[in-house]
Amino acid sequence: MAERYALLVTNLPASAVMMFDHDLRFVLADGPELERNGLTKHQLEGRLLYDAVEPAFAALVEPNLRAALAGQRFRAELPFGDLQYLYTYEPLHGADGRVAYALVVAQNVTALREAERSAQQNEARIRELMGNMPGVVFAIGADRRFRFSDGLALSRLGFVPGEVDGRSVDEVYAGQVELLRNIDRALAGQRFSADVPVGDAIWETRYTPMFGKDGAVAEVLGVSFEVTDRRRAEAATLQAQKMEAVGRLAGGIAHDFNNMLAVMMSAAEELSLSLREEPNLLEASNLIVGAATRASQLTRQLLAFARSMPLTSGPLVVDDIVREAVSLLSRSVDRRIRIHAALDAPGAVAVIDAAQLQTALINLGLNARDAMPDGGDLTISTTAVRLDEALPDAHGGVVTPGSYIRISVADTGVGISRENLARIFDPFFTTKDVGQGTGLGLAVVYGTARAHGSSVTVDSEPDKGTCFHWYLPQSALAVPAPEVDVPAAVTGKGLVLLVEDEPLVQRVGRRLFASLGFEVLCADDGQQGLALFREHRERLTLVLCDVIMPGMSGPETVRRMREFDRLVPIALCSGYASEPLNMRADELAPVIMKPYRRAEVEALLAQATARTIRPS
Ligand code: ADP
Ligand code: MG
Repeated sequence: MAERYALLVTNLPASAVMMFDHDLRFVLADGPELERNGLTKHQLEGRLLYDAVEPAFAALVEPNLRAALAGQRFRAELPFGDLQYLYTYEPLHGADGRVAYALVVAQNVTALREAERSAQQNEARIRELMGNMPGVVFAIGADRRFRFSDGLALSRLGFVPGEVDGRSVDEVYAGQVELLRNIDRALAGQRFSADVPVGDAIWETRYTPMFGKDGAVAEVLGVSFEVTDRRRAEAATLQAQKMEAVGRLAGGIAHDFNNMLAVMMSAAEELSLSLREEPNLLEASNLIVGAATRASQLTRQLLAFARSMPLTSGPLVVDDIVREAVSLLSRSVDRRIRIHAALDAPGAVAVIDAAQLQTALINLGLNARDAMPDGGDLTISTTAVRLDEALPDAHGGVVTPGSYIRISVADTGVGISRENLARIFDPFFTTKDVGQGTGLGLAVVYGTARAHGSSVTVDSEPDKGTCFHWYLPQSALAVPAPEVDVPAAVTGKGLVLLVEDEPLVQRVGRRLFASLGFEVLCADDGQQGLALFREHRERLTLVLCDVIMPGMSGPETVRRMREFDRLVPIALCSGYASEPLNMRADELAPVIMKPYRRAEVEALLAQATARTIRPS
């Protein structure tokens, strides 16, 4: 029995057992912890407390021992050396009922206390991190009540840390359908991330369900970061890339298409001329001309979208151009729509292609008209503005800070839904019935805006009307004096140099000029054109040079020709230019668009003949 008892005491894990009598003498001392502290049973047993251990330690322990010997049971924690011990004091009563001994069981709790301390430290660290995190962290219990909420961004939601704790998420975020649906999902055990809209902001949130012992979701942990700006920028970049890609595609198709239309139109026009005596055939031929003309108008719109139209721009007073557009509009808009013009940028100049800008403005005006089937107000205004900060535009770019002339076209119409807003500039996007809309109006506005190095923004809400703002960079250039028109008849005599690499177009051109009574020299490229120019320049009435050719480009060819002769009238013609020419019309040469019409060529020749009267 005693043996077993000794075995037990000797091996009590992480413990030491001691007994003291009223003299504070060790009556018994045993257990593995003695050894750990360099003590032995034999060293201690029979000795007085003050003789056996450090006096300082003895003094600490003495009151406890005395209390135990006086009959108290209690625990106390004290360090011994580097270790921490929990002492349990137990009075042992003799047969007479008086306390005979004090039993002390010392348990080594060093590791336990260390673990507790490190857990506390961890907790404090996590608290600190969460409180300083530029996001929001929260926990929601299975009862749907917030258990905890923290993070610097909490203030963006209008809360201070801990404010919502204890409240139900359904009450705090009443009506936020998407947010509440996510909580349902997470409480059902799904771990996932989602973009959650809260007010105007978007919060990327990661939900983590935490499972209890019973396997059910005990709570949901969430981490949220606001990503509003990032998401907006991503969407804008995507939109810009899409416009670029669609633009390239549209431009490529339109270019080839345009060349074919040029051929059809010229050939049919020529046919019409020779069919004056055959009314039936003449009508058929005129139908071809008409259809080709309409088709070429469409391709021009596509080219305008793709920024592929040659831009014949010069410094102009914007108000003048807008005023003309307003007057054109007022003729095509029904009376129930009141048009207001508030042109308030007097004399402000921008480098623009007047015809293109007007077309685009008219597109905006016609859209406004369509948005107000029962009438309303269409306000077109201009004003000079200085932007100090960049502004997001409507097609994925920004309006950079600077001085602008802002043209605004505002209506009181049906407005545009949020989903549609992202697509209105796409070519062929239309909400109108078949035959009512082509979806090219705003595509042209977009292309024209890009070609002018400008941007368009749009504000619209369903039923609240729509307002487009066009930011044209202001220019310090002076507006040149208007040219005096020299009206003159086509003489029908003279020599024309046609520089054109496309054989079919060249052939059609040759026939056209020939049918007008002109002699025609043809060159297949710039080099050959230049050679013919040098040889015949004294006799030339007009040079018509294609813009895009393999080898020397049209503008380059014209520049070289000008070095030999500054007087011969030269015009460029183009169906396509990957970059706007960006030259002033009077600086190099006027540009006509392919497919060119007989009338356009006649006008060009009339001007040229009037100018080639050389000073003698
Ligand atoms: P279309 O006018 O042929 O439909 P647009 O490119 O001009 O093509 O316009 C595209 C779409 O943008 C329209 O169908 C319409 O839904 C919308 N939109 C454009 N301007 C307005 C406006 N002022 N008010 C309402 N919706 C507009
Ligand atoms: Mg339109």
